[in-house]
Amino acid sequence: MFPTLKLYDTYRRKIAKFTPISNKMVTLYACGPTVYDFAHLGNLRNYLFVDVLRRVLELNGYRLKHVMNITDVGHLTSDADSGEDKMQKGARKHGQSAWQIAKFFEAAFLEDLGKLSIMQPSSLCRATEHIAEQIEYIEDLERKGFTYQTLDGVYFDTQKLASYGKIAKLDIAGLQGGKRVELGEKRQITDFALWKFSETDKSIAAAKQERQMQWSSPWGIGFPGWHIECSAMSEKYLGTKFDIHVGGEDHIPVHHANEIAQSEGRHGHQPANFWMHGYFLQMGKEKLSKSGKSLLLRDLLEQGYDPLAFRYLVLTGHYRSSMQFSMQALQSAAIALQRLRTMVADWLVDACHESSDLQKSADHAQVSAADKGIINLEYQLAFLNCVNNDLNMPQALAILWAVVKSKLSAADKRATVLYFDQVFALSLHKSTNTIQIPSEITALAEQRLQARLNRRWAKSDQIREKLRQLGYVITDTDSGYQLQTTL
Ligand code: AMP
Ligand code: ZN
Repeated sequence: MFPTLKLYDTYRRKIAKFTPISNKMVTLYACGPTVYDFAHLGNLRNYLFVDVLRRVLELNGYRLKHVMNITDVGHLTSDADSGEDKMQKGARKHGQSAWQIAKFFEAAFLEDLGKLSIMQPSSLCRATEHIAEQIEYIEDLERKGFTYQTLDGVYFDTQKLASYGKIAKLDIAGLQGGKRVELGEKRQITDFALWKFSETDKSIAAAKQERQMQWSSPWGIGFPGWHIECSAMSEKYLGTKFDIHVGGEDHIPVHHANEIAQSEGRHGHQPANFWMHGYFLQMGKEKLSKSGKSLLLRDLLEQGYDPLAFRYLVLTGHYRSSMQFSMQALQSAAIALQRLRTMVADWLVDACHESSDLQKSADHAQVSAADKGIINLEYQLAFLNCVNNDLNMPQALAILWAVVKSKLSAADKRATVLYFDQVFALSLHKSTNTIQIPSEITALAEQRLQARLNRRWAKSDQIREKLRQLGYVITDTDSGYQLQTTL
């Protein structure tokens, strides 16, 4: 029997059975990137989580309508509605217009998704292309009495909603009274901008850069706040109630609390049945961020890593736990991936031998017979139990390794593992020849070769040991050396 799909809902703080609103189509909204710089590995971890969710839903037989926004205006450097627009900041940093950098970094982001085998959403919607919908939304909130205007914009009055901040279990009184916060003209610390006026202080605008993204509105020339774009676009493409809303853990206390407030203000109910959040990727004590510690997928590619080694690494952690990134962990993931692909390729050869007793015909016929391995039901069920239990991918990987070690025939191992790969998406069928050894490893091997040529035996042995610790055995050959993984 197919196990029930259960997912964690942040709003209810519990794992619950997933039942879609419509049996025909699951509706999923994902908060997308702010395109003012390259996505870092932390951002990409978040989209890997969404991709796994999507693949698990599809494995459960659902079709999906997956909408993701592109934030290309309105996200300020501080979540408290102060600071510069991140797009303006990015434009200044890169010496181009805000429009140009939005286009450039959106394309770079989509390229990264492709490299990580992350499926593209069915609709990508840009905030700058939905200004009319956002204005209409704010007008409705204004009519219903949820807004007030200040010198710098139109704000949502959070005091008007008794349920404000429920998703984050916000301690509103504590927030209000406890901190010495710069409120500006806001009435409450939790109030947030729906529409901001273009910078009126010319000295600030001139010093920074003239604002390039602005529109007229019933309240004056300006730009939308960050949260209204998701409410307006999710409603346009998915309706006022949809199945799942996803984002990063940092969205819980502000961005998603505010999206919910907007929906409750306009429609009297919150927009999604499930709220799911991916937890952060850290390096040491710091989280990865665009303004602080950052590491990009292209940095890993430059060092010779297969991008899917990063995907493997991400799968080793549960999406609801923060995860530590290290080059050593990535290295182990790269080796594990390489080993799996080698085995999947070897199983095909073994399966050809297994089948050759039965079928002594042409080579291709043997391969197709080998490809007719059967997905093992017991392991399939174990795998489904993991992925359907709130996307427990670390356990699903453990099932994969159990298949590797099992006594199944080569053909059945291959069929079972490739079935799992619909969710892992690690291209396990890929020929191992295309996997590169990381440049860090080849650099060490080259250093050792030089040491040997210079008869520095102690140094040569020291590097051999270091390579061994990193998971590689080096053997000397007539033409130089050969590297093999040990894991
Ligand atoms: P941004 O482009 O900054 O708006 O962020 C895009 C997505 O990445 C959001 O869902 C964030 O919650 C998420 N995010 C940001 N930093 C990290 C991190 N260090 N680890 C995981 N996800 C992150
Ligand atoms: Zn959003």
